[in-house]
Amino acid sequence: MSLFSAIKFRQQFPLIESFNTYEVENTNGLSGLVYFDNAATTQKPQQVIDSQNIYYSQYNANVHRASHQLSSKATFAFEKARNKVRNFIGANNIKEIIWTKGATESINIVAQSLARNILKRGEEIVLCASEHHANIVPWQIVAEQTGAVIKVLPLTVNGYIDITQLDSVITEKTRFVACAHISNVLGRINPIEQVIAKAKSVDAISVIDGAQAVAHLTVDVQSLDCDFYVFSAHKMYGPTGVGVLYGKKVLLESMTPYQGGGEMIKTVSFTQGTSFNSLPFKFEAGTPNIAGVIAFAQSIDFLSPFLVDENKGYSRYEDKLVKHCYQALAKIEQVKYIVEGTPDIGVIAFTVADHHNHDVATSLDTFGIAIRSGHHCAMPLMEYLNIDGCLRVSLAAYNTIAEIDYFVDCLKKVLLDDYLVKNNAKEEIILTSQSQELENIIALFAKTKGWDSRHREIMLLGKKLIRLDKTLRDDKTLISGCESYAWLKSEQDAQGLYTFTADSDAKIIRGLLVIVFSALNNKTALQIHKFDINDYFTKLGLLQHLSPSRGNGLLAIVEKIKMLAK
Ligand code: PLP
Repeated sequence: MSLFSAIKFRQQFPLIESFNTYEVENTNGLSGLVYFDNAATTQKPQQVIDSQNIYYSQYNANVHRASHQLSSKATFAFEKARNKVRNFIGANNIKEIIWTKGATESINIVAQSLARNILKRGEEIVLCASEHHANIVPWQIVAEQTGAVIKVLPLTVNGYIDITQLDSVITEKTRFVACAHISNVLGRINPIEQVIAKAKSVDAISVIDGAQAVAHLTVDVQSLDCDFYVFSAHKMYGPTGVGVLYGKKVLLESMTPYQGGGEMIKTVSFTQGTSFNSLPFKFEAGTPNIAGVIAFAQSIDFLSPFLVDENKGYSRYEDKLVKHCYQALAKIEQVKYIVEGTPDIGVIAFTVADHHNHDVATSLDTFGIAIRSGHHCAMPLMEYLNIDGCLRVSLAAYNTIAEIDYFVDCLKKVLLDDYLVKNNAKEEIILTSQSQELENIIALFAKTKGWDSRHREIMLLGKKLIRLDKTLRDDKTLISGCESYAWLKSEQDAQGLYTFTADSDAKIIRGLLVIVFSALNNKTALQIHKFDINDYFTKLGLLQHLSPSRGNGLLAIVEKIKMLAK
C-alpha cells in the first residue's frame, strides 16, 4: 500500500498540473487555475483517463451480447468493475450493484420502481432539510403520483440532521427515509446510522445519498444496514455519466424496472409479453456507459488505498486543508458562514456582506479561481436558512495550502471597496445613441484583452444601467433562470420599437444587461428575434465565459426579451 503524499497525489492529475501557474497574473483568462469546485465534480487522474483511451483504442465492443473475443474482453472488464464497487462499499452480493448514470438516476429508480408501487395516499416520505434536489424532486414526483406526503427533518445549528427530532418526524406512517450521508453545501457527516436505525424501527425503507461521501469516507453498506445507497463516479475522481445504485437484493428483486429495452429482458414476445432479466441487469436497459464503468474501476483503484484505516495521511491532509481554509476565511470581516463550525469535509459555504455571491464568484474567476455561487441545487436549504444563495469552496486532496492562501488573498482584494475603481478601465464609455452605444461597446471590448479586464468592463458598464424602479420588481418582471435576481420590463412605442429597462442585485448581471440592451433596445420584434446574440458575444470576446447557453443568467435575459417582443 502506498502512503499518502500530497505532492504525488497532485501529480496524478494532468489538468491540475497543467494549470500550476496560478501565482502568475491572469491576463488571458486561462493562464492559471485554482480548482475549488470539487463537490460539483472532481478532476480525473491519469490512470482513469488512460483507461478510457485504452478501452476505445484496444477493445471497444458492446458487453454481454456477443460471443466474439472483443466483446468478452469488454464484458470481463465491465463486470470486474462491478465487483470492485461491491468490495468498495462492502456489499454482500454483486447482484446488488446496479449501474446508472449517476446518483440522480439511482434515486429516480428507487422512487419509480419501488416507491411508486408501494406508497399509499397519506403515507410519508421523510427527507432532510439540506438535501440536494436530486434527493428531493424524485420524491416530490412520486408523492404527487401516489398521494404520499413529504416530511422534513430539521437541522441543528451546526448543520447536522437533528437526531432529537427523529422520533417526532419518523413515525408509523413513514415508508421511506431518504437523506444525504454528507450535504453538498454544509459538508457535515450526518448521523445516518441513527437515521437508518430509526427508519428500521418503523419498517421504513432507508435511502442514503452518498454522492459527497464516497471520496472522503470508507463506506460499508452492510454495517450501515441501509436499504439503498447511491453515488456518482465523477465525484470520486471517476468519469461522468456513471453511477451506482446499491440496494438490498430482496428489495431489488421485488422492484419492477421503470425503463425497458435491450439487455434488461429474459424473453420478449408479442404473444407472451416480456419477462425481465435477473439482477442486476433488469435495471440496466440499453447499452451502458462501458468506457465510463471500466474507467470507474480505475478511480476506485486509485482512491481506495487512501481511504483505508491504516493510511490516515489522506484524510489528515484533507482535514488540514479544510481547517486552514475555514480559519483563514473566518478572519475576513465580511465573511459569514451559513452554519457555524468547521465542516467535516472540505465543503465550506459562506456569504460576504454587501457583495452579491455571483459577483464574488465571477471576480474570483478573473484570478483563475473556480468556486461556486448560487443555491447549489439545494433551494429548500437556502429557504430554510433564509438566504438567497451562498458561495461554496469545495476542496480535494490535490489542492494545497498555497492555493487556499492565494484564494483568500484574492477574495480580500475583491472585497476591497475600491477594487473596481483602482483597476478602473482606461477608457470611459459614453452611452449615447443606440447604434453608437453598440459600436462603442464592440470597440471597447475589441481593445480589452483577457477575461479579467473584460469582467472589469462588464462590472463598470453595470453602473450605467438605468435601473428599473423598485416598485416594479414583481413576479411579472422577474427573470427566472438567473442565478441572481433580475427584473425586466418592456415598453413599445407607436413605431413598434421596444425599450427595455431592468435591474439586478448582481453587478455582473447589471453589466450584461447594458451590453444586451445596447443590441436589443429600440428595435422591432423582428429585429430582436433576428439578432444573433452568440455572434455579438463572440465579437466581444465573451462567449467562452458567458455563453448564452450557460446557466449564468444571460440566456434567461435574452429569452425573456424575446418573449416580451412578440
Ligand atoms: N446528491 C448530492 C449530495 C450531490 O452533491 C449531487 C451532485 O452534486 C447529487 C446528489 C447528484 O449527483 P449527479 O448529478 O452526479 O447525479
